[in-house]
Amino acid sequence: MYLMDYHHHTNHSFDSTASMVEVCKRAIENGIIEICFTEHFSVNPLAPTYGHMVFEKYLSEIRACQEQFNSQLTIKAGIELCEPHLLKNQYDEILQPLNLDFILGSVHNLNNQKLRLALKEDHPTAYERYFNELYQMVSTADIDIIAHFDLMKRYAYKEHGLYVFQEHREKFEQILKKAIDRNIGMEINTSGLRTGLKQTLPSIEIIQLYKELGGEILTIGSDSHTVEDVGANIAEAYELAKQCGFHYIYKFEKRQPIPVKIV
Ligand SMILES: [Zn+2]
Ligand SMILES: [Zn+2]
Repeated sequence: MYLMDYHHHTNHSFDSTASMVEVCKRAIENGIIEICFTEHFSVNPLAPTYGHMVFEKYLSEIRACQEQFNSQLTIKAGIELCEPHLLKNQYDEILQPLNLDFILGSVHNLNNQKLRLALKEDHPTAYERYFNELYQMVSTADIDIIAHFDLMKRYAYKEHGLYVFQEHREKFEQILKKAIDRNIGMEINTSGLRTGLKQTLPSIEIIQLYKELGGEILTIGSDSHTVEDVGANIAEAYELAKQCGFHYIYKFEKRQPIPVKIV
């Protein structure tokens, strides 16, 4: 099977010390055929990730890895943006000349507060506020894939519990329909399977709803921040996609989605 892992962080992200070469080696060991680096990036000085990325260094290191692992691993250059619907012009100005392969869009902050803090401030409305922001992102941002669709649960589940799917169903439909209209896909992020959360982001109900609404563009990512996590639970996510009725997982090249059949 042509296994792909489309979500990785290395020391080009503020919250990882992993080396790119080691990530590539581990991917090959784990039977991954294609990976995409997706380091954090924000143009907002109030975001924790601000100021960490040096694109020249990042892209030249990716090129070096592409040469080194040429016959063994396909390596793509991507990015994970914080709130790309805000400060959109600034994002465009920096990103367009870079000609990246892939852009993940994320809501990591609400009103310039990390989700964990936003949750503390008013936990009964936290999920609602998060999903409203996600709708804003999907409505206007220039992105390829919605990263970790129900990320708020990562911070909320222990103390406040998971959200009830039915309570937010209408909002989920709005978000997913808008995404489909704008040719934005969704990832199955496996990071939740490595914690007490014990489920993917998003949960199976949202993956099923996406399929029901006609969604096709699906990527799979471990969201690795360490070498150990590269490729973690990827095969499981492929099974989940299949179970939800998907026949293809997508790869990207210069921001064009390309389907790869699940076999
Ligand atoms: Zn993220
Ligand atoms: Zn990430």
